[in-house]
Amino acid sequence: MSVKPKIQALRLRLAAAAESVVRAGHPWVFAASVRRQNRPGKTGELAVIYDRNNEFLAAGLFDPDSPIRVRILHSGKPQPLDRDWWRRHLQQAQSRRAGLFDEKTTGYRCINGESDGWPGLVLDRYDTTLALKLYTAAWLPRLGEVVEFLAAKDNRIVLRLSRNIATAAAQFGHGDGQMLHGAALEGPVVFLESGLRFEADVLRGQKTGFFLDQRENRRNVESLAAGGRVLNLFSYSGGFSLYAARGGAASVCSVDISPQALAAAERNFALNRHFPAVAACPRETAQADVFFWLREPPARRFDLIVLDPPALAKRQSEREEALRAYSRLLAGAAARLADNGMLVASSCSAHVSAADFFGLAREAARQSGRAFEEWRATRHAPDHPVTFPEGDYLKCIYLRFR
Ligand code: SAH
Repeated sequence: MSVKPKIQALRLRLAAAAESVVRAGHPWVFAASVRRQNRPGKTGELAVIYDRNNEFLAAGLFDPDSPIRVRILHSGKPQPLDRDWWRRHLQQAQSRRAGLFDEKTTGYRCINGESDGWPGLVLDRYDTTLALKLYTAAWLPRLGEVVEFLAAKDNRIVLRLSRNIATAAAQFGHGDGQMLHGAALEGPVVFLESGLRFEADVLRGQKTGFFLDQRENRRNVESLAAGGRVLNLFSYSGGFSLYAARGGAASVCSVDISPQALAAAERNFALNRHFPAVAACPRETAQADVFFWLREPPARRFDLIVLDPPALAKRQSEREEALRAYSRLLAGAAARLADNGMLVASSCSAHVSAADFFGLAREAARQSGRAFEEWRATRHAPDHPVTFPEGDYLKCIYLRFR
């Protein structure tokens, strides 16, 4: 009788500073902090971390190809990470969202990566379609198990991959846009947000097809739009434009560099014609680079301007340049605001702090020479909880210019 040799668990020890960081609940262990390892580890295998007294500290997913070498699943008292644990783990994310949305909102984030205890994994719901997006290859060997937990008779699951793991995924037989469960998907999915109908290109769109994280700011914009001329800069598929139109805007102009995004905005307007205010709202689109568009001398003014650029600092090294770019955008937008106009400016750069971004916005307002006041400053959406500094990316400030 042959006895299979039992593979020894992958055991790690960390540098003292990293040990404290993990003990305090941070979800990442960087490669440079690993002091000892009993053997080489494989992508996605469970790594068990012991402290300097050889006591259990944490367990997480190992990734030999990433500078984030371990993503923590559990820390504190040792626990078997068995099926029950995974089920409870999923339920925690679900109960965190209980009561957040009624039947008028069928698109929202169900799992927000590290901050929900699922490091490097995002799950977004668009009606009955689930978009499962992976940011680390460490989930690839467990994808079958994860899908088993999420699959239901009446849902479908689509796999989305961050660009940096496409090659690793191919080795596991997976690809971006792959159907993991349910009926094949031909085109965009239609879902509801605050009663508005939107399409999401779950197969190919940015993020998982829609910017769900801006929902609450879009709702604010609806409440501010009545009677105003609205400019939506970096509009994507017109999320803010639709809310403004339903809120009674006098006109809406959407500007984006992507013709596909503007075409989607047109379709989203068509999907909401049953709202009289949407049907009645004069709208236009401009396909342009906003940085150039704002350099033109202002031909007309707007009462409400939404400024929601893509992440301008994806890396720490890009931060200084990003700060200058934000300043140019803020000044250019402010110059187009009519008397009593409201600027709604967002940043989704994790490397630019809220304090820095709000500071830039106030400085741009001071430089405009006009009196201004702050209506509100907001952070991440309730379905996008944040539990660690690197996960804290979204900030938005509302400034009224006299
Ligand atoms: N506000 C949107 C999300 C914006 S995402 C919403 O609520 O859904 C950022 C958008 O900026 C993308 O649609 C992208 O196509 C666009 N974009 C990126 N660089 C741009 C540029 N230089 N000029 C204009 N649009 C740009």
